[in-house]
Amino acid sequence: MLNRVVIVGGGTAGWMTASYLKAAFGDRIDITLVESGKVGTIGVGEATFSDIRHFFEFLGLKEEDWMPACNATYKLAVRFENWREPGHYFYHPFEQMRSVNGHPLADWWLQDGPTDRFDKDCFVMASVIDAGLSPRRLDGTLLDQPFDEGAGEMQGLTMSEHQGKTQFPYAYHFEAALLAKYLTAYAVERGVTHVVDDVTDVALDERGWISGVRTAGHGELTGDLFVDCTGFRGLLLNKALGEPFVSYQDTLPNDSAVALQVPMDMEERGIRPCTTATAQDAGWIWTIPLMGRVGTGYVYARDYLSPEEAERTLRAFVGPAAADVEANHIRMRIGRSRDSWVRNCVAVGLSSGFVEPLESTGIFFIHHAIEQLAKNFPGADWDPTHRDRYNDAVAHVMDGVREFLVLHYAAAKRSDTRYWRDAKTRPVPDGLAARIERWRTQLPDSETVFPYYHGLPPYSYMCVLLGMGGIEVKPSPALALADPAAARREFDAIREKTRHLTATLPRAYDYFSRLR
Ligand code: FAD
Repeated sequence: MLNRVVIVGGGTAGWMTASYLKAAFGDRIDITLVESGKVGTIGVGEATFSDIRHFFEFLGLKEEDWMPACNATYKLAVRFENWREPGHYFYHPFEQMRSVNGHPLADWWLQDGPTDRFDKDCFVMASVIDAGLSPRRLDGTLLDQPFDEGAGEMQGLTMSEHQGKTQFPYAYHFEAALLAKYLTAYAVERGVTHVVDDVTDVALDERGWISGVRTAGHGELTGDLFVDCTGFRGLLLNKALGEPFVSYQDTLPNDSAVALQVPMDMEERGIRPCTTATAQDAGWIWTIPLMGRVGTGYVYARDYLSPEEAERTLRAFVGPAAADVEANHIRMRIGRSRDSWVRNCVAVGLSSGFVEPLESTGIFFIHHAIEQLAKNFPGADWDPTHRDRYNDAVAHVMDGVREFLVLHYAAAKRSDTRYWRDAKTRPVPDGLAARIERWRTQLPDSETVFPYYHGLPPYSYMCVLLGMGGIEVKPSPALALADPAAARREFDAIREKTRHLTATLPRAYDYFSRLR
């Protein structure tokens, strides 16, 4: 049996991995996590994707336990502002789009939508978010059917097990440092050995496999499997084992960010339960509401903007509340390691790969990778099948998300600066150009969404295409012959449901202050 795991790195990736493997294998696995006391974590990564709920469920953690400890809030969507033109916004919500007579509601909307807002006509969430409401009532119950359909069935499932079954209506925002602290306590209580020290060297055996990591003060830590959670450094996988990094920079040029953690009275400000991505001259600014502060940052390309200008723009965007807040400037490595599992080393987190956080997929990659690792955990014979399956799954998801993000820029109507004009002529990943042509006359379906994956269902692509406004999309010709009555009834039902929910759900802030 192979059961000694050494995790290097104590950021979100390191502690999520340690907690998950302990929850999965209990005392049958021996885990040591070593993290530097000098090298900090990346200090960002506060918005998530709705699959994250399965992570907390898998650990047996209840929202009322971990959320207050991490100043967490709910996230119902990403709100895109100014990607089409100044003042315009739309939502990409965590809400499945319904179909009528085999056509997604968005197709009917293109044919004969009740208003010019597809997101408000096709989903209830858009209006719930605009009103700053909580998807849970003060007694903890979730907003009613059909939007919690299947939620009970999903209890205890991993995210891959629930694939395609249903969409849970929300994700979370949380303070990354507080989550790492919470998970540290969780993992250490369950037997993970925590070492605070610097790894100074990686020892390889005669086959080139890792035999141990040497530390400044704790000697050599030996194990069977080594998990590289050292962030963009890729200390084990890239540096010690020399695994090359495949850059996505040609298609996604944003390579930098500047972030601010801005304390704020959220009762007064109110919580809009979504991550907002506001387009800027050379990138976009994220806004993440937490209990007690707002996390914000400008993601930009250095070819178009200097760090000083980016910081100035961000401070002007936030206003006086940010005056005394120190800025965190980050250089991003965009792309993925060619393979994330090489010999006896598995990279999880930024060392494995990263795309800009436009759809909050960093932690989603981590969660996905850990599930794949637990599922494909190697035996003593190190059968390469498990490694290959892991590598295929990780590459598939990252390449898929890359394509989805590229679509955001290709589809954005904005073209007022060099950055946005270049976005229209930049290369796109293989095959995307042809798919975009097909989507002009038929909205994306599971056959044309590549690679179809539970994190990115076709309706996500529809939202981006319809919201960004730069690519003209037509309804299916078949709808001209179809009876629109059923679709009209569905639009009416959504309007009615929206009215009911906005009149009855509590303010998001009120819900969280009760939770505390
Ligand atoms: P890090 O946080 O960098 O941790 C690295 C760890 O390795 C640290 O503990 C460090 O001490 C340790 N270490 C390094 N060298 C050594 C050494 N020699 N010895 C011992 N220990 C060492 N993801 C999302 O899901 N949503 C978001 O909204 C989001 N926003 C982001 C915004 C930006 C600008 C960036 C860059 C990323 C964002 N991400 C987001 C991604 C997210 O931040 C990361 O996926 C997540 O924080 C995991 O980071 P990590 O643990 O891999 O690395």
